[in-house]
Amino acid sequence: MESRSSKFPQVIIIGGGFGGIQIAKKLKDKEVNVLMLDKHNYHTFQPLLYQVATGGLEPDSIAFPIRKIFQKQANFKFRVANVTQINTESSSVTTSIGDFHYDYLVIATGSETNFFGQKEIEHFSMPMKSVPEALNLRSLLLQNFEEAVIEKNAQAKQAFLNFVIVGAGPTGVETAGALAELRNHVLPSDYDEIDFSKMKIFLVEGANRVLPPFSEQASYKAQQFLEEMGVTVLTNTMVDQYNGEQISFKNGDVIPTKSVIWSAGVKGAIIPGLEHAQIVRGGRIKTTDYNLIEGYNNIFAIGDISYMETEKFPHGHPGVAQVAIQQGQQLAANLIRIINKETPKPFDYFDKGSMATIGRNKAVVDLKFWKFQGFFAWITWMFIHLLFLVGFRNKLVTMMNWIVNYFSQDRGTRLIIRRFNRKTMKEDIAID
Ligand SMILES: Cc1cc2nc3c(=O)[nH]c(=O)nc-3n(C[C@H](O)[C@H](O)[C@H](O)COP(=O)(O)OP(=O)(O)OC[C@H]3O[C@@H](n4cnc5c(N)ncnc54)[C@H](O)[C@@H]3O)c2cc1C
Repeated sequence: MESRSSKFPQVIIIGGGFGGIQIAKKLKDKEVNVLMLDKHNYHTFQPLLYQVATGGLEPDSIAFPIRKIFQKQANFKFRVANVTQINTESSSVTTSIGDFHYDYLVIATGSETNFFGQKEIEHFSMPMKSVPEALNLRSLLLQNFEEAVIEKNAQAKQAFLNFVIVGAGPTGVETAGALAELRNHVLPSDYDEIDFSKMKIFLVEGANRVLPPFSEQASYKAQQFLEEMGVTVLTNTMVDQYNGEQISFKNGDVIPTKSVIWSAGVKGAIIPGLEHAQIVRGGRIKTTDYNLIEGYNNIFAIGDISYMETEKFPHGHPGVAQVAIQQGQQLAANLIRIINKETPKPFDYFDKGSMATIGRNKAVVDLKFWKFQGFFAWITWMFIHLLFLVGFRNKLVTMMNWIVNYFSQDRGTRLIIRRFNRKTMKEDIAID
């Protein structure tokens, strides 16, 4: 076990996502030692993963090295490590590089794709939760066009040209819109042998409208935008099976397709060892109103992994970046209160609103007292995303990419850097 180097308490944060980064930053100059463990050496800006998958942005623009974020923070240390076990009796965590002792443990591991136990769907469909997964998807999409060019059989060719996105939350809607823009403006000049009127994009949703958590006005407008762009929206439609060749639905419909993008749900990224913790809806860990995991006095959970019932949110908070950010900030202050034997303050989420973009000049924004759609919403969406992207270089490169894409109607990164191979690459990511 790595030895302790100071009289100050050791705070281990598992996960350098939105929540983990915030709590570590807020602990700067406090009388604690912070050790962050993450299986990647970078922070991922997940809201823009779909742009990496559809050739709009390079992966480097949406990822940022964690060590660089904390270069000037003397009480911060970082290790690339996959945490595999929490040992509450010895107050330590077991990782791929050894064990580490903690006085306070913060679990900020986020969530992972939920296939709801459907192994075949998990094997054949494409998730989009990490940079490697987005790059796999980008390769697969482009490989399918290369296959479609050489395929002689019309039926087999159509399966390469049908794209099915399951789940019409923000990720599904944004991905469907980005694919439609590729079809309408970009790909026809690359592949003049393909008849792009045959490229079909289906967005499938079990609920009765797209963007179910948004206002009805936003859902209605988003669907209208998508349909104008040529996306077929199938609401009230539940997936039954997908075998890599065709997807079937509970209503008996079938679509032949080589590409199913799965954005239908997430579940908490649980690490074993918390025997007293309650794992509730969506595989999240139940906490008190100041993020303490019930059953423990020094283990906390923030962000997507945490489930906190409050008067305003009786079924827990939404799994969005703002919740993770605000919980991280609040828990930093509470940890100092706890160390100083003061009473921690309850978390009160300030909902700043929701937004999703569908394409060029098309977005929807729901604020508490104002809901708007179209060009101004799209500008707002871009501004907010640039604001929250980590790192000046990333902000600049992303903004330049968006400006060039806007005027050229092009996407610069249509590259198959490494071929996607379902068997080997899915195993890579599972181990990762
Ligand atoms: C495609 C996509 C689009 C999204 N779009 C939006 C959006 O537009 N707006 C919005 O508000 N939210 C959006 N979200 C949700 C938002 O990204 C999450 O709510 C947010 O990332 C949660 O932050 P977190 O800190 O809880 O976890 P994360 O940001 O997911 O970070 C978790 C970190 O933990 C690390 N980790 C996990 N397990 C381990 C382990 N065992 N050992 C070591 N490290 C581990 C991971 O590598 C990761 O770095 C989107 C999510 C996705 C996937």
